[in-house]
Amino acid sequence: MKTPFMDRIPRRQFLAGSLATTLAASTATTAVPAPAARPKAQIAITLDLEMSRHYPRRGITEWDYQKGNLDAATKKYALEAGQLVKRQGGLLHYFCVGRVLEQPDISWLQQLSQLGHPIGNHTYDHVNLKATTPAMAQYRFKRSPWLVKGMTVPEILRENIRLTTIALKERAKIDVNGFRTPGGFRDALDGRADLQQLLLQQKFSWVSSKYPRHAYGEPKQEPAEEVYQSIVDAQQQAQPYRYPTGLIEIPMSPISDVGA
Ligand SMILES: [Zn+2]
Repeated sequence: MKTPFMDRIPRRQFLAGSLATTLAASTATTAVPAPAARPKAQIAITLDLEMSRHYPRRGITEWDYQKGNLDAATKKYALEAGQLVKRQGGLLHYFCVGRVLEQPDISWLQQLSQLGHPIGNHTYDHVNLKATTPAMAQYRFKRSPWLVKGMTVPEILRENIRLTTIALKERAKIDVNGFRTPGGFRDALDGRADLQQLLLQQKFSWVSSKYPRHAYGEPKQEPAEEVYQSIVDAQQQAQPYRYPTGLIEIPMSPISDVGA
């Protein structure tokens, strides 16, 4: 079936339109509200401060080993995004890979903090919290296992998170605000009281670990309407909740920029 609607508008507009439509439908049973009283969607914009494979060119994967070694273009993008959002009266929540704090110049990160943007912990090396072996925790440890020699996975994770909080404070004078797991898990930290406790012990009251399942479509092809609908439907699975340990989960809302 032809969908001229989808042909005409870009993806982001479509998503915004869908949310607006949902809100309009939910208020349809009451009297038409004055424009000022119309409910507004609450959104959070978040950005992980890390390098991604295939940037700036497909085939580049060395960043897997150096997630925190941000290049100039990435830092410029991160700073300008924060300035743009601030000008519009909003804040952007960043999650910082700790190794970036080893770089000679971190003034861009301090500028973001001074603008009021919260900066969270994204581990020091971008480790996988659900790893079962040290080599699985990070590519860097697979290539250079001596860095974590004699350490168990829980010890690696604890140290990777702890060092990031310390580095933010000592190098940048930034008090850490929140934690996001590297990678998102469709089942979040459900059933992993050990990981929940690990974060609670490091004084985090909330985590952003869940990324709900949705359809992606084929690379370099216009996404089908089912893909858009799948992303909109996934928002139902991206609602905050509390784990039995008391830790709060604040899921990511798809689709992420890299995924898109
Ligand atoms: Zn990440």
